[in-house]
Amino acid sequence: MRLVKHLNDFQHIKRQGTGYFIVLGHNHNKIHSVQCAWIKEESFMQKVITNNGKNSSYYWVQFWNSTQSTFNEKPCQKCMS
Ligand SMILES: [Zn+2]
Repeated sequence: MRLVKHLNDFQHIKRQGTGYFIVLGHNHNKIHSVQCAWIKEESFMQKVITNNGKNSSYYWVQFWNSTQSTFNEKPCQKCMS
């Protein structure tokens, strides 16, 4: 598991296209495929860079299993249902 703090790291992960983002939010945590259309560079920029990660963090994981969730994250309804 890796904390994604920089835009170039985020872009690199999107380009290589494998694994999952765990997005920690103010009151809920979600897991997405890295290719999910709801995972946008603008959102990452705003949440992590502009707001300095105050209410949100992005983690990248290679593999994910709902029985082993670390943050009680819920699968995205768009990319994982
Ligand atoms: Zn998604």
